[in-house]
Amino acid sequence: MLGVAIDSVIDGDSPYTLPLVPNAWLPTADGAQFWFSVQVIVAAFVVTGVFTWIYGVAANNFAHRVMHAVRTDSFSTMQRLDMTFFDDKQTGEVMSVLNNDANNLENFLDNGLQNSVRLSVMILGIAFILFSLNWQLALVTLVAVPALFGLTVWFMKAVEPRYVDRRASVGNLNTRLENALSGVELVKTSGTESYETERVEGASWRYFRDTMAVLRLNYVYRPGMEMLAGLSFAVTFIVGGLWIFQGEAPWILTGDLRTGEFVTFLFMTQRFVTPLSQVSNIVDQYENAKASSERIFGLMDIPSMITEAEDPVALDDPEGRVEYDHVDFGYMGVDDDEPEEMVLNDVSFGAEPGETVAFVGPTGAGKSTLLKLLMRLYDPVDGAVRIDGHDVRELSLESLRSTIGYVSQSTFLFDGTVAENIRYGRFDAEREAVVDAAKAAEAHEFIESLPQGYDTRIGERGVKLSGGQQQRLSIARTILQDPEILVLDEATSAVDTETEMLIQRSLDRLSADRTTFVIAHRLSTVRDADRILVLENGEIVERGDHDELIDADGLYAKLWGVQAGEIDDLPEEFVQRARERAAERTDMLEDVDAADD
Ligand code: ADP
Repeated sequence: MLGVAIDSVIDGDSPYTLPLVPNAWLPTADGAQFWFSVQVIVAAFVVTGVFTWIYGVAANNFAHRVMHAVRTDSFSTMQRLDMTFFDDKQTGEVMSVLNNDANNLENFLDNGLQNSVRLSVMILGIAFILFSLNWQLALVTLVAVPALFGLTVWFMKAVEPRYVDRRASVGNLNTRLENALSGVELVKTSGTESYETERVEGASWRYFRDTMAVLRLNYVYRPGMEMLAGLSFAVTFIVGGLWIFQGEAPWILTGDLRTGEFVTFLFMTQRFVTPLSQVSNIVDQYENAKASSERIFGLMDIPSMITEAEDPVALDDPEGRVEYDHVDFGYMGVDDDEPEEMVLNDVSFGAEPGETVAFVGPTGAGKSTLLKLLMRLYDPVDGAVRIDGHDVRELSLESLRSTIGYVSQSTFLFDGTVAENIRYGRFDAEREAVVDAAKAAEAHEFIESLPQGYDTRIGERGVKLSGGQQQRLSIARTILQDPEILVLDEATSAVDTETEMLIQRSLDRLSADRTTFVIAHRLSTVRDADRILVLENGEIVERGDHDELIDADGLYAKLWGVQAGEIDDLPEEFVQRARERAAERTDMLEDVDAADD
């Protein structure tokens, strides 16, 4: 428009025509043509604005919808992954896939994709306009373009490894910060603040250095681009200027050039630079997004081993009979075919509905592992675990897990109200049922004394509860769930005698009439159990009730003697065995460390 206006209105030596517009629509008088041109130019800016707005809204909408879908899908896939996966990974690592990697993808879809579309349209559009105006001068103007591309390709190649370094150092810095923050209690109590500051400083310095390495290349690239664009401008100015000024085509060129066309050319040379210098950003965002999507989709492709049978059995009216039949088990990594070391060897026992079975034995003997197999957090390597005669692998996961209630040592409460936490898993429970459960768990009184009673927010944003109170809430939750089978991992951590008594009473209430498995630390639990299984090194070494085991005078009798204060210490042979086991474990850890190095 600008070119046409200059040539026909200001210079007045060419007809007033516009491409694709019928001449009948255009004004004929000079003054009218001038104001028409002004209107078209203003309209062009308005239309540009409107399109930028539409484009932004559409592209953002697209990018964020995709990201919403990716985030939700990857989270729901991740939740279904086996415990094996979570044993291997740190929470921070998984969080960073769900969060940072999803953001990287978003960044690319949002900016990178937009910019690359814009870049291609600009370059092709400008080339098209110039060639249709005057192909000879277009060749002269665009002579710098191969050089611009050459410089860009060089820059991309050179900057790529530096981007890789920078991504690594930003990851490293984040890990450092996250670690130091989540371990702040240890840091404070060990007085290692300055040590941590130094480590963060080191990581931050590395990030600074790697960023500067990228920027140094940028310092060469950007001015280089400007200079090449300047060269293009200068060549166009010289050739076009001579062409108009001498009134005929210079050198081997032929034909006419009008002033308006010349101005258009000069304008266009300025418009290459900005989109082209975006290329390196686009490439960085693309590489980032590529690495991130590999991680996201890698997560989604991890197979689950703990899956439901094709035609799962639903336990409609479970009785709670449990049987372990020659069970062998060992932990495996995500990629292993067989376990390195067996944790359970040939474990067999049974429990009739309503019985209480207690497990005792040294730490690391395999007590928790044994019960995780019942809940199918892992599957046995050999043998079978059955409930009411069905292999747990044949049961639907939903019916299996609603049949079993689990009260663990480490209780977990979600950020929410007391009532919501008790209701977790039985969301439709009436308020009355919640209160009854809390009463049975000896929790009602302390809940009532909280500022908003059952509606008090606990967890991250609310009142903090003591360990004993948290445990009673988790017992209330299990009472409300009303499972046939109960798995209790008694807390070893000391609570005061009164609290312990309350917890014990609520547990007794909970376990009456239910098949109960308990990893026992309290003398009273052990004593009252129908059967006690003594585990050592993954094997059941003794079994019977309390009196039988005391009579047998084996490991159990010794453990009991120490706990009850009847003897001072374990006999030397047990202490020795415990030390050997600890040493074995240390060796194993050293092997793992060496492999990591
Ligand atoms: P207990 O409950 O009797 O203290 P565990 O069942 O927790 O014993 O542990 C039995 C053995 O299995 C230990 O040697 C322990 O190091 C190992 N172990 C426990 N959990 C895992 C796991 N998630 N991955 C690998 N090894 C584990």
